[in-house]
Amino acid sequence: MKKQVVLFLMCCGMVVNLFAQTPKVPYTSSKFEQLGAELPSPNNTRMADGSPGHEYWQNRADYNIKVELDDEKQSIKASETITYTNNSPKDLPYLWVQLDQNLFDKQSDTYKSLTYSLEDNFGLFMFIEYMRRTNFDGGYQILSVKDKLGKPLKFTIQRTMMRIDLPTPLKAKGGIVSFSIDWSFNITDAAADPIYTRSGFEFFEKDKNYVYEIAQWFPRMAVYSDVRGWQHKQFMGRGEFALPFGNYEVAITVPADHIVAATGELQNPLAVLSPEHLKRLEQAKTAQEPVFIVSQKEAEEAEKKKANTKKTWIYKAQNVRDFAWASSRKFIWDAMQVSVEGKKVWAMSYYPKEGNPLWERTSTKVVAHTLKVYSKHSIAYPYPVAISVHGPVGGMEYPMISFNNQGRPNPDGTYDKKTEAATISVIIHEVGHNFFPMIVNSDERQWTWMDEGLNSFLQYLAEKEWDKDFPSQSGPAKKIVSYMKGDPKKLVPIMTNSEQIDLMQFGPNAYSKPATALNVLRETVMGRELFDYAFKEYSRRWAFKHPEPADFFRSMEDASAMDLDWFWRGWFFGTEPVDISLDSVFFYKTPDNKNVSENGNIKMKNINPFIYTNIKGILGADANKALNENVYLYGLHLSNVGGLISPVIIQVNYKDGTSEIIRLPAEIWRYNPENITKVIHLPKEVSSFALDPHLETADIDEANNHFPRKQMPSQFDKIKNGANAGIEEEED
Ligand SMILES: [Zn+2]
Repeated sequence: MKKQVVLFLMCCGMVVNLFAQTPKVPYTSSKFEQLGAELPSPNNTRMADGSPGHEYWQNRADYNIKVELDDEKQSIKASETITYTNNSPKDLPYLWVQLDQNLFDKQSDTYKSLTYSLEDNFGLFMFIEYMRRTNFDGGYQILSVKDKLGKPLKFTIQRTMMRIDLPTPLKAKGGIVSFSIDWSFNITDAAADPIYTRSGFEFFEKDKNYVYEIAQWFPRMAVYSDVRGWQHKQFMGRGEFALPFGNYEVAITVPADHIVAATGELQNPLAVLSPEHLKRLEQAKTAQEPVFIVSQKEAEEAEKKKANTKKTWIYKAQNVRDFAWASSRKFIWDAMQVSVEGKKVWAMSYYPKEGNPLWERTSTKVVAHTLKVYSKHSIAYPYPVAISVHGPVGGMEYPMISFNNQGRPNPDGTYDKKTEAATISVIIHEVGHNFFPMIVNSDERQWTWMDEGLNSFLQYLAEKEWDKDFPSQSGPAKKIVSYMKGDPKKLVPIMTNSEQIDLMQFGPNAYSKPATALNVLRETVMGRELFDYAFKEYSRRWAFKHPEPADFFRSMEDASAMDLDWFWRGWFFGTEPVDISLDSVFFYKTPDNKNVSENGNIKMKNINPFIYTNIKGILGADANKALNENVYLYGLHLSNVGGLISPVIIQVNYKDGTSEIIRLPAEIWRYNPENITKVIHLPKEVSSFALDPHLETADIDEANNHFPRKQMPSQFDKIKNGANAGIEEEED
C-alpha cells in the first residue's frame, strides 16, 4: 500500500512538471510566511532557539516585612525593607514600586474609565459596583519611604506605581540598594466586590467572624527587563502582575486565636501552634489521606470567642515572585505530605465550615494531584508546600498559596455535581498557576495568555487525569467553537495586551482559546510525544526567569523540528476560525475500469488518458490489476472557508460498512490556503467522507464537513428529540 503511494506521487510529480501551468492569479499567501516583524529580533539575551542567551540577566528583590492585621477595623499596617539587586547593564537613577491597592483609591483611573450604560443588567451591576467602590476609603497610605540609614527618600506616586528617586544611581551589573516603606490600607470587602477583587475579607453574619485573604498588600518592586525597561503599564484591575524573584521573610501579627496560611515555610511553629497541632502535623507527614490539624469542631469552638492577645507567625520563602496570606479563627486546616517527582511536598487546605463537607473531601487531594500532573508536564514542583484556601476570592494564585471559591455547599451541606466540578477545576487552576506564572514568570500585565492559556491547557490535562469524564470547561476543541464563530469585528487576537481585551472576551480569548490551540497542537498537529518534549523544554528553560511570547514560540519549534509559524500566525496573531468545507468529490474512473458503479453524489470523472498511459508505463504489468482492482481514486475538493490553517482529517466510510481516518498535515494548504484538491487512493469503494469526525480542530461549521451533505440537526431538533441532551453537550 505504502509503496503504491510513493509511485503514484512520483508519477504525478512528473506529469505536473510536464504540464506545468501558470496559475490564473499569481498567488502570494502570508499564511505560511515566517513570523518576521511580529517577533523581536533574537539577541544574546534571548536567543533564536527560544532559550535565554549568555547575556541574559534579571533583577531581584528580597523582602523583609512586618505586618499587623486589625480584625476590628479590617485594615493592615505594615513596614518592609526591600533589598533590590540591579543585574542589568544599566545604572538605575530611580526605582519603580507597584502600589496595587491604589486600584481601590476613590480617584482610581479604573473607575474613571469604566464604561457601561444603565439600560442592561450588566450596566446596572457595574454602576452598583462603581458606587460601592467610590464610597470605600481604599488605596495605600504611604507613611514613609526611607533609605537604609533611615533618611527619607524622595518618592512620587503615579497612580498605581511609585517612583523612588535614588540619591546616587544604582550601579549596573550587581549594584544593591536597601530601602524601607511603611504603609497602611483598609481591606476591601471581597465577598461584596466580585469584579476586581483578588484579595480582601468576607464577613460571616451568623458568627460575626471574618476570613481574610490578603494579596497585593505590600508595595512590590516592578520588573525592570531587557524587553521593556521598567514595566510601566498601570494596574487597571484586569491585566495581572509582573514581579521579580527574591527571598521573603514575613512576620504576620494576628489575633492569637487566628490560624494563618501563607507563602513559604513557618519558622516558629512552637510559638504559634499547640502541642496537639504539632503532633498532628507529624502524623500528616506519612498519612495516606489528609489529616486534620484543626478540626471543624475546634474551628467552631474558636468562632465563639475572640482573643484579646496577638501572635506573630513568621514565614520564609525562597525564590518566589510574590507573597500572600490568609487568616481567620474560622479556619479548619488539613494537610498531608505527597511525593512529587521524588520530593516530599506539603499539600494543605484552609477553609471555614461553610465550605464543608465539599472542602474536606476534595481540596487537599486536588492540590496533591495538581502538583503531580503539572510536574510531569513542566518542571518538578520546587517549593516545599502548596496551599488551597477557601474564602471570598473566586480564584487567585500566589506562590505556594491560592484562594479558591467557585461555589459553596448549601447551608445543609448538600451540593450538586456542578459545584463539586467547579471547586475541583478552580483548585487545579489556581494551584497550577504555581508553574505559570509563579515559576515560569511571564509578564501577566502584558500577556494574559502566557500564564492563563498555558495553565488552562495543563488544567485540562489534570482534569482528565482526575476523571476521564470530567466536565472540562475549556480544552476540547469543540468548546471554543461558539467563540470562534463570533462577530469577526469584535474578536481580537490572543496576542493582544491584557488590558485591551474586553471583559466579555477575556475568558475565551486569554484562557480557552490558547488552551484549545495548545490542545490542537498537541493532539492534531505535533502529536503528544513531540509536543510534551518541547513544552517541558520551554518550561525548563524559563523556570525562574521572565519569558516572552517569542521565547515560547521559538522553543516549541526548536525542540520539535517543526516550523509552526503558520500555527502561531493563525491561532495567536489572527482571529479567523477553522472552517474547512468538503465541497465536492470526484471518483476518478480509469478507461479500463468497468466494475465500479457511480455512487450517490460522488461524481465520476475519467482519468486523463495521458496520465493513465504514463501510470501504466511505470507500473508495467501490475498496472491493470492495481488500477482496476485495488485502487479507487477520489479527488476531494476542499475549501478553507474560515481562513485559519488546519490539518485535514478525513474519515472515509466504505460501502462495506468499514471506515478509516486519513490525516493530512496543515502544509497541504501551503501553495493555496483557500482551495485545494487532494487525490486519495483507497482500497475499497467509498460511500461517504467526513472531515474532522472527532471534532478535534475547532471547525466552526460541521454542516460542510460531510460528503454527500448530511442534514445537520438544528438546535430545535436537538431539543425536540433529545430533550436536554443537545443543550447539555454545549455546556459541559
Ligand atoms: Zn488563572
